[in-house]
Amino acid sequence: MSALPVFAQTGAPANAAPATSAQRPADNPLFVESTLDLQYPHFDRIQDAHFAPAFDAGMAENLREIEAIASNSEAPTFDNTIIALERSGELLSRARVIFGSLNGTDTNDTRRKIDAEYAPKFAAHRDAIMLNPQLFARIDTLYKNVGDLGLDAEGQRLVERYHTMFVRAGANLTEAQKQEMRRINAESAKLGTTFSQNVLNEVNDSAVVVDTLEELDGLTDAQIAAAAAEAKTRGVEGKYVITLLNTTGQPVLPQVNNRALRERIHTASVNRGSRGNQYDNTQVIADILKLRAERANLMGYPNQATFILEDSTAGTVEAVNGMLGQLAPAAVANAKLEAAELQAMIDREQAAKGEPTFQLEPWDWAYYSEKVRQDKYSFDDAQIKPYFEMKNVLENGVFFAATQFYGITFKERTDLPKYHPDTWTYDVFNEDGSQLAIFIFDPYARASKRGGAWMNSYVSQSELDGTLTVTANHQNIPKPQAGQPTLLTWDEVTTMFHEFGHSLHGMFSDVKYPFFSGTSVPRDFVEFPSQVNEMWADWPTILANYAKHYQTGAAMPSELIERVQAAAKFNQGFATTEYLGAAMLDQYLHQLPADQLPSGAEVMATEAAALQAAGLDYAPVPPRYRTPYFSHINGGYAAGYYAYIWSEVLDANTVQWIEQNGGLTRANGDRLRSTLLSQGGSKDAKQLFVDFTGAEPQIEPLLIKRGLAPDPTDASN
Ligand SMILES: [Zn+2]
Repeated sequence: MSALPVFAQTGAPANAAPATSAQRPADNPLFVESTLDLQYPHFDRIQDAHFAPAFDAGMAENLREIEAIASNSEAPTFDNTIIALERSGELLSRARVIFGSLNGTDTNDTRRKIDAEYAPKFAAHRDAIMLNPQLFARIDTLYKNVGDLGLDAEGQRLVERYHTMFVRAGANLTEAQKQEMRRINAESAKLGTTFSQNVLNEVNDSAVVVDTLEELDGLTDAQIAAAAAEAKTRGVEGKYVITLLNTTGQPVLPQVNNRALRERIHTASVNRGSRGNQYDNTQVIADILKLRAERANLMGYPNQATFILEDSTAGTVEAVNGMLGQLAPAAVANAKLEAAELQAMIDREQAAKGEPTFQLEPWDWAYYSEKVRQDKYSFDDAQIKPYFEMKNVLENGVFFAATQFYGITFKERTDLPKYHPDTWTYDVFNEDGSQLAIFIFDPYARASKRGGAWMNSYVSQSELDGTLTVTANHQNIPKPQAGQPTLLTWDEVTTMFHEFGHSLHGMFSDVKYPFFSGTSVPRDFVEFPSQVNEMWADWPTILANYAKHYQTGAAMPSELIERVQAAAKFNQGFATTEYLGAAMLDQYLHQLPADQLPSGAEVMATEAAALQAAGLDYAPVPPRYRTPYFSHINGGYAAGYYAYIWSEVLDANTVQWIEQNGGLTRANGDRLRSTLLSQGGSKDAKQLFVDFTGAEPQIEPLLIKRGLAPDPTDASN
């Protein structure tokens, strides 16, 4: 049974022997297990027309399997029920995992149509399984006798997790309630697809058209050429088009000297999804929230957040509110100190120009914070970017760190088919030379790709299936003009380390059952291993290995490195505040009872009220995502966006442990791999943390890392 595809999660495809049924068209590669290494998908043979037949046949086959398990005349056993479920749905999982990834990374009209058509069908299919009373009765019997089944700890946990999954999907409801659940799930699925399609359409539709070259003052020649090329593509040749990313902040803002253009870019960004056009998402999200609250009520919970958090490591709404509430005042206070510095810079500059000063606005923040950063730490992005050529960062930074810490090695291969030309494929080997995984790197932004950065797995490791991992990382790095190098910002560098941390979690998986493979862990735990991997980005020996000038090969000057490291805590008040704004907003919307939810027309006012209630209504720092383009709360992170900071507590403790125990050593890498990364979801998540660090998590290391508390090891403080 595969999990639904979400941001960092992988489906867990169960696969049996290749089928030979006559109804499987020989020309559809989705119908059979790929014969390529590690079942790497046959991207060269897969066509969009193959998906619908594979989905239809996959669902029909899966229902036959379920029927056979549910109506088995033998008494339920671990093998004839749980293992049989683990092996079921092979064709459907394979087709969905491949489609889900291709639709996210390179969508088109056909794929969008398939997505819209099948989202409600998949929801109904899942309900047909989860709400099957005969099937649940067998799982329930096993669950009640789990101690007598002669299972090891992983097997016992599998029975318990299946039971929880069915109960939380509504298996204990009355038939009338189940009918209501089916309706809610079908409508939610439909609306979820509409929401994400609107988000992508709005990103593309809100790109800013600039008439004159003068307005682009501050951009590099390469950026201007890209903006001119984009204008040509969009049929406005002679003008310039600045494309947007899906965050509130836009990466070009630090460079734009023209204040009016900064305001236009920012305004275009924050208005996405609430402009009253055909892609407006306010009514869509209002309807989604209502359905979620109804589902929570049906399940006996006061609201969606309470329902979701019960099955997280945080456990309760109170725990999450307490944690976020503890951070908010300190973060905003920090942001206000930063704002004072920015305002002083504005006042100074305006006075020098003999012009009246103005008040800091949200579209000024990135621009002036870049200036203050240059002033304080004497470097700017343009100075450091030449040292961060993309493929060099990947191979001599990200891969090198994994080799140093875990002993694994990498070799690029070019014989495997690609779904898009801008992707790179690598074999990954264990220290003894045996194959560990295959890794796909897909870095560039494109109009057909959804926003953000994420990891997915095409194939997930399990002993039961005899599979290893095929995993991919995706980013939204602007693609330079042909012949130009891809030079990264520090943020893009650390994101690359982050996403690869997710992939390591997938690759190192060493579990028996597909259900527990790799990143199949609670949402508020899954970001933890990826955040830990970020620690190597500026680790001195790692940085020295990859921070080299793309033209001269010269090492990054050590004083520049020191300045980059010193600047790491710079602007953390802003970063924490914009994150907390979004995290609080997510909680607020999902903690409202059904009768207090906003209508479509009230969504934006409710957003303002939520930020005010949390003390995060600080105008110069809007939330990282506003409600109509907050993709996380539409996808797997509903009532779960807090997971990043929750995971960061574990991350900060773990980084501290590694630093205090020898740092970048093979012994530490082996310890992290064996106690934690290899375990997937096969043990309680918090226990995995304790197994590695030997202690309960503390909040102080996070406060220090975020600059919200003084660093006791820092002599200057
Ligand atoms: Zn992540």
